[in-house]
Amino acid sequence: MVDINKLISIVIPAFNEDSNIDVISERISTILSPNQFELIFVDDGSSDNTLLKLKKLHSEKPFIHFVSFSKNFGHQSALKAGLDFADGDCVITMDADLQHPPELLPQMIEKWIEGFDIVYTVRKDSKELSYFKRKTSVVFYKTLNKIGDIKLEPGSADYRLLDRTVVNLIKQSKEYNLFLRGFIAWVGFKKFKIDYEPNARYSGTSKFSVIKMMKLAMNGFTSFSIRPLYFATVFGGIVSLLAFLYALYAAYIKLFTNRALEGWTSILISVLFIGGIQLITLGIIGQYIGMILKQTKSRPDYIVRESSKKRLM
Ligand code: UDP
Ligand code: MG
Repeated sequence: MVDINKLISIVIPAFNEDSNIDVISERISTILSPNQFELIFVDDGSSDNTLLKLKKLHSEKPFIHFVSFSKNFGHQSALKAGLDFADGDCVITMDADLQHPPELLPQMIEKWIEGFDIVYTVRKDSKELSYFKRKTSVVFYKTLNKIGDIKLEPGSADYRLLDRTVVNLIKQSKEYNLFLRGFIAWVGFKKFKIDYEPNARYSGTSKFSVIKMMKLAMNGFTSFSIRPLYFATVFGGIVSLLAFLYALYAAYIKLFTNRALEGWTSILISVLFIGGIQLITLGIIGQYIGMILKQTKSRPDYIVRESSKKRLM
């Protein structure tokens, strides 16, 4: 147990996690003392008994709070809401399924007291994670680090401690659908890294569908790199050069031999090839335009239906 006179907020997004909530609050309560922390569960539009459980917990232990969304807004929005509602001098975010070991909490807090502004965790490659998850994660971080303006360590998790200064920066950010991992890597400050061995999910199944993972990855790419937009220019240049060389070759055949180039196949291949490239490029541009559109509409990241505490501005 850590002995300090500061308030620590722990934020836990929960989407249909009714079978995990009691266990994780219990585990955290055995590690930290009640007057030291507040626990904020963000119910991300659950359809099971998550909210019911949270209300019961709050009535028994007032330091356990809930913020309940009007529908499912996604993990990142839930984290953002947690940071918005937290009162703590620092805020720790973690998953509800106990994959982020609560045993690390004292070490994280110690490092914060030592003076680090961000204590982040990196997941070791583990057999507890599915083959698919491990592979897609590696591809995602490799690509992002290649094309992006930020460098993220493979296995970066959303299990981290943020000092109040950093939390306020995130709260002030007007960025729609903020990609938190990227923002944390970009923002600077004194950071400390902890490697951890993920546990297996305590109960229930993963709430991150393939579609949700792809959306998160896309958001990561478009938020922290505009390099894909150069793709059209670079590829256009290469294709034009190839076309020019081919024209020279065709002229040579026509002028200096008595053969002629076969037409159909080469025309069809080049039309399809260029067509494909154009569509891919349009898709990339479309992705960015979509981001701009969402940003200009400036809809809120989430809508709260009910909560056990007021949001501080
Ligand atoms: N989560 C959420 N909203 C979603 C999906 C997930 O709040 O739309 C929460 C979920 O309840 C959990 C955390 O985000 O606390 C991580 O999700 P999960 O464990 O399902 O992801 P995985 O560990 O499989 O990547
Ligand atoms: Mg999980």
